[in-house]
Amino acid sequence: VNIEEVALETLERLCRQPSISTENLALPETANLVQELFEEHGFETRQLQTDGAPPAVWGERSGRSPYTLLLYNHYDVQPVDPLELWDSPPFEPTVRDGNLYARGAADNKGQLATRLTAIRELLDEGGELPIGIRWIVEGEEEIGSPHFEDLARTYASLLQADACLWEGSMGRSDGRPGIGLGVKGVLFVRLDVRLLQTDAHSSLAAIAPSAAWRMVEALAAIRDPDGRVLIPGFYDAVREPTPVELELLADHGDTVEDELRDALGIDRFLDGLTGEPLLERLGFAPTCNVAGIQTGYAGDGLKTVLPAAARACMDFRLVPDQRPDLLATALRSHLDAEGFEDVELTVLGSAEPVKTRLDHPFVRRVTEVAEQFAGRRPAVTPLVAATLPLLSSLERHVGVAGLAAPDNPVYSGCRAHAPNEHVRLADLAPTVEFTRTLLTALGEAA
Ligand SMILES: [Zn+2]
Repeated sequence: VNIEEVALETLERLCRQPSISTENLALPETANLVQELFEEHGFETRQLQTDGAPPAVWGERSGRSPYTLLLYNHYDVQPVDPLELWDSPPFEPTVRDGNLYARGAADNKGQLATRLTAIRELLDEGGELPIGIRWIVEGEEEIGSPHFEDLARTYASLLQADACLWEGSMGRSDGRPGIGLGVKGVLFVRLDVRLLQTDAHSSLAAIAPSAAWRMVEALAAIRDPDGRVLIPGFYDAVREPTPVELELLADHGDTVEDELRDALGIDRFLDGLTGEPLLERLGFAPTCNVAGIQTGYAGDGLKTVLPAAARACMDFRLVPDQRPDLLATALRSHLDAEGFEDVELTVLGSAEPVKTRLDHPFVRRVTEVAEQFAGRRPAVTPLVAATLPLLSSLERHVGVAGLAAPDNPVYSGCRAHAPNEHVRLADLAPTVEFTRTLLTALGEAA
C-alpha cells in the first residue's frame, strides 16, 4: 500500500466537503463525514451536541495497552474569500506541483487524514491499536470554539485520557521537529464612548467634547509609549520563564526570527530585539494590542466633523498565571480611577493561558520519539504566542496534559486561512509514519 495515496484519498474526501463555520456552511454534513471515516476505522462514535453549536464528533477505540490518548482536531475551515485569488476552486481538491490545493487541506483536514491513515496502518499491521484512542473533532475552531467550554463540561468523562495530542505544530523550515507545550490566554474587550447626540460640525470643537480625543486619551491611559501596561497589578501574576525554558528558547536558532522579519517586512523588531530576548518577549510577555479604532470620518477627501462616538477593540494576550476575569475588573477600575467613567467596557471573549509541565512524562516521551524519528533535536516552545480557547476549557474540565507534536503535515508556506491553501504531498507519508511510531512507542512505554 502506498501511504501517500491512502492519506491523499482521505484528505481529498474531506476537502471536497465545504465546512465554513463562520458562514454556518454544511457543518452537520461534515460531522457526518468525519463520523463515517471514524466508523470505517473501527471506532465507536457519537455526535456530541451542545446548544447553538454544530455537532462535534467523538470516537473511541481501545488498544492492546490500557494507556489512552486523546486526539483533538477540527473539521471546520476558514471562508474562501477572496475567491478570485484561488488558482483552482477551493472545494475541488487539486494536485499541482506536488501539492494538494484546497481550503482546509492544511488547517486542519490534513492532520485528520494523516492520523486516520496512521491508524489504518496500525490496524492492517496488528489488527489492533497499540493504545486506546479517544478523538474529539469540533466544528467551531475557526471562530474561537465558542461552545467548547459547554462541550468539555458536559462530556468531560468522554474526554478523559492519559494525555492529549492537540492540533499538531507547524513544520519548521530547518527540518527540526517542533513541539509546543502551551498557549497564551487572551482577553478581548471593546471600549465605547459617546459624548454627543450625533456627529456635529467640526467648528463646534471649540465648545463641545470630542469622542475621538476622549478615546485616544483613554487608550493612552492604558499603555505608556514604551509599551508598559499601566493597569495596576497587570504584571503581578506573570511567571518569569525558568532557566530551562530560556535554554530551550536559546536553542531555537534564528529560523523563526528570519521568517518573522520577512513575513512582517521589517528590518528591526521593537526595542531592537533579536535572538533569545526576542523569542522570550514573543513567548513570555503579555501584550496590550489595539485591534481597531472607529470614529468620525477617515475616508477619502474631506469631511469636517466632530465625532459623537468612538469605539476601540483591544486584545490582551496573557501568560501564566494572569487571569482574564481579574484583568477585566482591573481595567474597569483603572479607567474609573483615571477619570474615564464615561468609557463603556464590554468583554467580548476570554481564555486562560495553558501550559503543560516540561517534566511531564508525556512531554519527555514525545520529545524522545521525535528526536529518534527525525534524527534531530526537537525545538521545544514552552508557550506559543497565539491562543486556542478550547485548550483552556479542556484544561479546566478534563485536566489532561497535552502538547502540539510534529504530527501535522503543514509548513510555514502552506497559506492556511489564505487563497491557495495547500499541503505538500511529500509531507504526508512522513507525518503518517511519525504518528504511527509515536502511538507504538506510547504503547511500549505503558
Ligand atoms: Zn485555522
